[in-house]
Amino acid sequence: MLNFKKVEDLQQYLEDVKQKRRSIGFIPTMGALHDGHLSLIKRAKEETSCVVVCIFVNPTQFNDTADLDKYPRTIANDILQLTSVETDVLFFPDVEEVYPKGLNTKLELDFGQLATVMEGEFRPGHFDGMAQVVNRLLEIVKPNKLFMGQKDFQQAAIVRSMLKQTESNTELIICPIVREMDGLAMSSRNVRLTTENRKNAPKISKLLIELGTKIKRENFDKLKEEFAKEINSLPEFKLEYIDIVDGITLQSVDAYDDSDFIVVCIATWAGKIRLIDNYILKENQD
Ligand code: AMP
Repeated sequence: MLNFKKVEDLQQYLEDVKQKRRSIGFIPTMGALHDGHLSLIKRAKEETSCVVVCIFVNPTQFNDTADLDKYPRTIANDILQLTSVETDVLFFPDVEEVYPKGLNTKLELDFGQLATVMEGEFRPGHFDGMAQVVNRLLEIVKPNKLFMGQKDFQQAAIVRSMLKQTESNTELIICPIVREMDGLAMSSRNVRLTTENRKNAPKISKLLIELGTKIKRENFDKLKEEFAKEINSLPEFKLEYIDIVDGITLQSVDAYDDSDFIVVCIATWAGKIRLIDNYILKENQD
């Protein structure tokens, strides 16, 4: 695996890749890699011939500095994992490389409601920072395909809108959520859960699946209320939101027949750790 820290060096190498007409797959991450990240890399290996992974803990998408400070940084182990799945290129830049003009160079894109609901309401500024870094990294790498996880459903919806607004040639591929054996969605933050909270966390996915079985016959408000009650009954758990939304517009959906693509998205505190998860309730591909 090649390892670049400088934009210029990476771009020089990728120029050569493009000249040889090899396709580039790109996976932006914040490191602390787990099997969820590796699933994106494996998919990229299947679909493109040069797979570039970026590890960059992006300061502009953290609305809470304590969360940024405590974000796990495990580069030595990450490199082992990247090598194990035969990643072609690691890009591991410093902040100055990604933001040569400083952190305050905001994007002039409008995501409307996509960026104000759910995560947008509770993590102000988060999506501005996310879109800023993804846009900058795409500008650097110019990949044919960008691989992102359904785990961050709203993030993927915003990136889809960004690619459309910027008339980008990059294709977005959204990959399914990888879960632990007990159903907990894999996340770099899971290692920070207390033993007791880790034990209770799989209840989230169990309740999401259960909600899915009732979706055709029960009132959505009632389902959301029941979910909240169950989560809030777990010690130290506090549900931040549950919303049942259209998978493209992220507008709330009130009934099963109101959309062809319905997703339930949640965020909950488990002690001091914030967990997000989602589950696709309906997806008509035609
Ligand atoms: P992060 O390092 O958390 O910024 O995540 C980098 C990419 O990995 C994002 O596109 C995430 O959606 C994706 N990802 C994170 N966790 C999972 C998971 N459990 N399953 C699939 N993809 C994931």
